[in-house]
Amino acid sequence: MRRAWQTGMIALARSPKIKRWAQEKGLAAGLVGRYVAGPDAEAGIARAKSLLGQGIRSSLFYLGEYVDRPELVAENVAQERKVADLLGRAGIEVHVSVDPTQIGHSLDPALARRNGLAVAEAIAAVPGDAPRLMMIDMEDRTVVDPAIALHDALTAAGLPVGITLQAYLRRTEVDLRERIRQGAAVRLVKGAFAAGREHAFVSQDEIKANHRRLIGLMLSREAREAGFRPVIATHDDRLQDHAVAQAEAAGWSRGEYEFEMLYGVRSALAERRVREGHRVRVYLPFGRDWWPYAIRRIGENPRNAWLLARSLIGG
Ligand SMILES: Cc1cc2nc3c(=O)[nH]c(=O)nc-3n(C[C@H](O)[C@H](O)[C@H](O)COP(=O)(O)OP(=O)(O)OC[C@H]3O[C@@H](n4cnc5c(N)ncnc54)[C@H](O)[C@@H]3O)c2cc1C
Repeated sequence: MRRAWQTGMIALARSPKIKRWAQEKGLAAGLVGRYVAGPDAEAGIARAKSLLGQGIRSSLFYLGEYVDRPELVAENVAQERKVADLLGRAGIEVHVSVDPTQIGHSLDPALARRNGLAVAEAIAAVPGDAPRLMMIDMEDRTVVDPAIALHDALTAAGLPVGITLQAYLRRTEVDLRERIRQGAAVRLVKGAFAAGREHAFVSQDEIKANHRRLIGLMLSREAREAGFRPVIATHDDRLQDHAVAQAEAAGWSRGEYEFEMLYGVRSALAERRVREGHRVRVYLPFGRDWWPYAIRRIGENPRNAWLLARSLIGG
């Protein structure tokens, strides 16, 4: 049932016809408010400011997905640079999430490297002393090596950059140990993709067990001594509890590591973590191309069926 629901929602997210129809007609526009800050960078900044009032930090993400034309890549890069500039002007933390394919990886990996450098340099150049980071999102298995190479090159150039690693992949333990040794910033997620057994853990139990083990490495004494910056990105409260217990046992204080969740997903849990004294961030998308992102979020939980139905009726 869960799988059929998710497959159906992914098909809806990918259909260009339905996307155009939904976005033009404002169909299910209620979903935009739930999962997306708004149509432009200004709306993203306004939402980030109001979240900060509740003690929640943001990572801004421009919704330009499935890009297959150079002009769309250029627009994505321009929006990422613009939002970094606006965050700086607003005097809040300059934290921007970037997908490798969004900056041109599928057109030409060298273009993605140049664009990654341009966005990271723009973030570094924002005036003021607000903390700043370009967080590289992780996509399917074929992108992992180039994404890590981009991260390592930008780190070596002294630019503020972090990388997302995925618990479903068998290779992640090796990738993570090396980034811990570097004292890098790593956001650990479950992984929104699938791969064969030779590359990936396949069952939910295996993935969860690996996720727990990797959280243990991220919040170890050795990681803390290396200056590693752990970001635990999950909505699973039991995995978060495991992280808290692990952190306490290894001498990490609250605020030295971070929980990150998607904007609009389990907000009460995010608010609870803030009350408990944790550092919490949300992944905050903005842009007009909101349909695929919002529908994927709906697809992550069959209990969201009512939300989709209500949005369509009201939309
Ligand atoms: C900040 C952040 C960045 C991410 N970046 C990437 C990335 O770069 N690459 C990548 O592959 N994946 C990324 N992901 C997605 C991630 O890989 C998972 O697919 C997603 O987070 C779901 O896994 P989970 O660990 O939250 O656990 P789950 O077991 O899926 O969820 C835990 C609990 O939260 C509930 N829940 C989850 N989603 C929803 C929802 N939409 N609505 C209501 N309840 C929900 C579930 O029902 C369950 O109770 C990111 C996730 C986050 C939070």
